[in-house]
Amino acid sequence: MADFPLIARRLAWNRREFLRDAAGLTLASGLLPTGLLGRSGVSQRDRKVVVITFGGGARDQETFAPEGQENIPHLMKELIPQSAFFTQVVNRGILGHYVATASLATGVYETINNFASLPPENPTVFEYFRKDLKRPASDAWVVAPSNGFNRIGESSHRSYGMGHGARVILPKHLLTAASKGGADYEHLLRDNYETPFFAPEIAGNEFELEQLRGMLKLSVNEFKARALTLSSPDELSVYIVRQLMRQVAPSLLWITMHDIDVAHAGAFSLYIDGIRRTDRLCAELWSAIQSEPEYSGKTTLFILPDFGRDSDEDSAGNGFKHHRTGDAASRTTWMMALGPGIREGVVHDRALDSTDLVPTIGSIMGFSPSLVHGSPIRELL
Ligand SMILES: [Zn+2]
Repeated sequence: MADFPLIARRLAWNRREFLRDAAGLTLASGLLPTGLLGRSGVSQRDRKVVVITFGGGARDQETFAPEGQENIPHLMKELIPQSAFFTQVVNRGILGHYVATASLATGVYETINNFASLPPENPTVFEYFRKDLKRPASDAWVVAPSNGFNRIGESSHRSYGMGHGARVILPKHLLTAASKGGADYEHLLRDNYETPFFAPEIAGNEFELEQLRGMLKLSVNEFKARALTLSSPDELSVYIVRQLMRQVAPSLLWITMHDIDVAHAGAFSLYIDGIRRTDRLCAELWSAIQSEPEYSGKTTLFILPDFGRDSDEDSAGNGFKHHRTGDAASRTTWMMALGPGIREGVVHDRALDSTDLVPTIGSIMGFSPSLVHGSPIRELL
């Protein structure tokens, strides 16, 4: 793939021009100090970080390109103007959702089987955070879409692992347990858009149903009634996240969206619905961060896809549906960062790596992810 850097740069350049035209972003200049975190007035101890993975990948044609912008009105008009936007975040790892999300969370390209219930092999951001800063289990949480993510909170690394990870909530698993899989909830319980028959046995550090009431202050009946009003698995996840923010207020919170991945089913309109919903849910979460006293003014929000989708142009590509070819379009994604100390309305097109996220979170919160392969993003610090 000799022309990969060139194609990636072209994708990033196009993205940058779309955003300069439509969202009024200015291009970062080498002379401009960008990150102002040290002067944000928020002590490292009090800082919180929320990470949202943006739904299983979408092409620019349906998002940042002029013809796609109508699908992401909240990102374009509300979030991007308040963010530092990185147009070229390259994922060099395996393009399966679980393994790619695990790689984002460890800062190392994981090679575990995407379709097995295995923990990441390298320490996760949650373990570095909790061990270095001596934080309790209640301070790091993951809310994830599928049973396949139940091991993502804690690695098998011998110096970390056992007892240092994040609590993991699988809202669909909770709903299945609460409803005994009742037909009323079928629209929320689809587990995986690529392998519909994949439903691993749940094991590991999962959130137990009886804690619904204790920690989230939700009765089973209330949860079931509310779920009936929700239109998708990601809506269910965001509902749980809101409850978690209000009742537990973890400092490190990771939310994996997945509705967009319905693209695999080949129905373009459902894929577009997924993008529009994810756009709205990201804005709802940013707004929740502003309105919750525990989060307001001290939270950095990162939004990034785990990876993209294949391009139409690639002769082996699959249009909007899949991410199987590993072409530049499916690997060259983006990231936005919002929060105190981040210079907003600035676009950066320097090439970053997906593994740069964890060391950046480490620098923001004051812990040392010593085994990561990426580097802190200097523009945010
Ligand atoms: Zn997928």
